[in-house]
Amino acid sequence: MSSRDVRADEELIRAALSAARDADPRDVPVGAVVFDASGRELARAANAREALGDPTAHAEVLALRAAAAVVGDGWRLEGTTLAVTLEPCTMCAGALVLARVRRLVFGAWEPKTGAVGSLWDVVRDRRLNHRAEVRGGVLESDCAATLDAFFRKQR
Ligand SMILES: [Zn+2]
Repeated sequence: MSSRDVRADEELIRAALSAARDADPRDVPVGAVVFDASGRELARAANAREALGDPTAHAEVLALRAAAAVVGDGWRLEGTTLAVTLEPCTMCAGALVLARVRRLVFGAWEPKTGAVGSLWDVVRDRRLNHRAEVRGGVLESDCAATLDAFFRKQR
């Protein structure tokens, strides 16, 4: 991968970090942004599980729903890239496969619940007919610091 691609992925994660800052103070600050094939931002969201009282209101699911609404052409998000500050869980990994997201870029690894390499690898399971390309650990320390700051305040 060229240094230009590395910088481009960092820009995507910076957008996701900015989305995370919009989380309700009660919610774990995870942010997700969906970009179209030309790199244009389609939609962004922060985790809103507490704010919405919805167990499925993870940043990735909310951003995918919003992106599909913006595209307005059915549920497929082919050619898109999803950037998220934290390794997706099983639900979100499943959702991005169902949405046909082309590429996933994420920041911090989540060894307790991660489903894109840590505990499972839902996104690149060879039995699936759609498998997204993945790059994890982009701006990992910035993403982890955002979460650490939140959990320090919780204690
Ligand atoms: Zn999730």
